[in-house]
Amino acid sequence: MNKQDGFCVRSTDLSNFINLFLNNIPPAVCVLCSTDSGHDALCQPCCSNLPWLPPLHCPCCALPTLDGGLCGNCLKTPPHFDSTHAAFLYHGVLAQLIPAAKFGARWSLFPALARLMLPTLQQVPRPDLLIPLPLHAQRLKERGFNQALEIAKPLVRSLSLPLEHTLLQRTRDTEHQARLSEKARHRNMRKAFVARGDLSGQRIALVDDVMTTGASLDAAARALKQAGAARVDCWILARTP
Ligand SMILES: [Zn+2]
Ligand SMILES: [Zn+2]
Repeated sequence: MNKQDGFCVRSTDLSNFINLFLNNIPPAVCVLCSTDSGHDALCQPCCSNLPWLPPLHCPCCALPTLDGGLCGNCLKTPPHFDSTHAAFLYHGVLAQLIPAAKFGARWSLFPALARLMLPTLQQVPRPDLLIPLPLHAQRLKERGFNQALEIAKPLVRSLSLPLEHTLLQRTRDTEHQARLSEKARHRNMRKAFVARGDLSGQRIALVDDVMTTGASLDAAARALKQAGAARVDCWILARTP
């Protein structure tokens, strides 16, 4: 390791340490309107005004549809996952809040948002395992946290579910593919995940922050099913409309 590499690692570690400290201070005010929120990240009126997922949406990928039936994409190319439960649509204030939490190292916002998923998730069949979508090791080192794991933690506690976060691994760094077409994203995503272990008959909830095209969740679900999973349901914070 050269001097420059050594310095980069140390400065990343230091900023991760500072972020860890800042994220453990309870908020005094709502992050959106700055009124007293009783140490919650969001006040009640701001929670009510979030872009909640409309009741009529595709049961497979949570995309809003006119009649609540399967969307065109899921009919044409059924994904490897079986259903998707999302709390929100990824637009408006949430399209600012989630990137701010993810790229501004404010990961304490994720558990606050995840708790808003509970009323939906308490009504769906319980999985055997909760698996947060893994980040590539290099991405995890740079960011210092995995947003999917931060979302999964309060769900595990509230729903008394086992958490598994070593079995599914990301073997390719495929995060930066925003400029690729949907077809190219799916191609780029092939073999991005590997599931090590026997998941025979297991019903798995795969947790992530946002579903855009669903390419990463599809690739992860494929790997889980290749390892024997009986079904894979996506539990996500927000769906891109
Ligand atoms: Zn507020
Ligand atoms: Zn769909």
